Amino acid sequence: MLIGGIEAGGTKFVCSIGNGPDDLHAEVRFPTTTPAETLGKAIAYFHERVVKYGPLAAIGVASFGPVDPDSDSPSYGFITSTPKPGWANTNIVGALRAEFDVPIGFDTDVNGAALAEGKWGAAQGLDTFIYLTIGTGIGGGAMVNGRLLHGLIHPEMGHIRLSHNWESDPYPGNCPYHGDCLEGMAAGPAIEKRWGEKGQDLDPDHPAWELEAGYLAQALQSFICVLSPQRIIMGGGVMEVPGLMEKIQKKTLIYLNNYVQHPSISDHIDETIVRPALGNRAGVLGAIALGIQALD
Ligand code: ZN
Repeated sequence: MLIGGIEAGGTKFVCSIGNGPDDLHAEVRFPTTTPAETLGKAIAYFHERVVKYGPLAAIGVASFGPVDPDSDSPSYGFITSTPKPGWANTNIVGALRAEFDVPIGFDTDVNGAALAEGKWGAAQGLDTFIYLTIGTGIGGGAMVNGRLLHGLIHPEMGHIRLSHNWESDPYPGNCPYHGDCLEGMAAGPAIEKRWGEKGQDLDPDHPAWELEAGYLAQALQSFICVLSPQRIIMGGGVMEVPGLMEKIQKKTLIYLNNYVQHPSISDHIDETIVRPALGNRAGVLGAIALGIQALD
């Protein structure tokens, strides 16, 4: 059974076919340009693969957002209000449906990654967990009681408010909507603007990382209190900085201050706040997992 997957990112699209981490092939990636050109390339990719490998059973799309994941809504399958030029109100699922008569799964990139980590990665066997990505933006997906969390639309974990000490950190934040929300303070572009250097060029001992860990730990403290996740998976380029994960684990414990009583927090924080097991393949595997889910 062949599943098609599209990781629809704001800077690149990754298309693949397969069934899971051990069966994923013919991966291609191309830059995200206009919707017509980019979706045209994805559609052409699947048509070519169908000729070579046989028909697809389903297609999954794990998309940058905001998106409409509500299958009862008239704008289901759309990227909705994105500030990315040309992409607001883009009907991704509709474009695929016009070409392929198969079930199509559609969700946020981070919900897709959460689904994949639950199926094949760092959250196997768990039913309530979070997948966060800390990169050019900050996003979070959640599995709650075995189902991907939606609600009105979908969670926007990157845009929660933080406690901001303006004396020790006068940087005002760069979220166009909220200024100093989590993404505005802790995503890659915020690090670069605050310190005048890209995060990847800052020494792992630079004070930037204590500050970064503090903001991320504030967010984790909130997420732990709100959703009681059994695990929090943290991916994205910023998390590759040596020592950052350990700083986050430590500060999260400090902020929780023994209030949430569970051995996973008090004794095993390093097994509760973890890296993705699927690494940078979580995105495209998320798309494949959404395709598999669409068959149910
Ligand atoms: Zn924001």
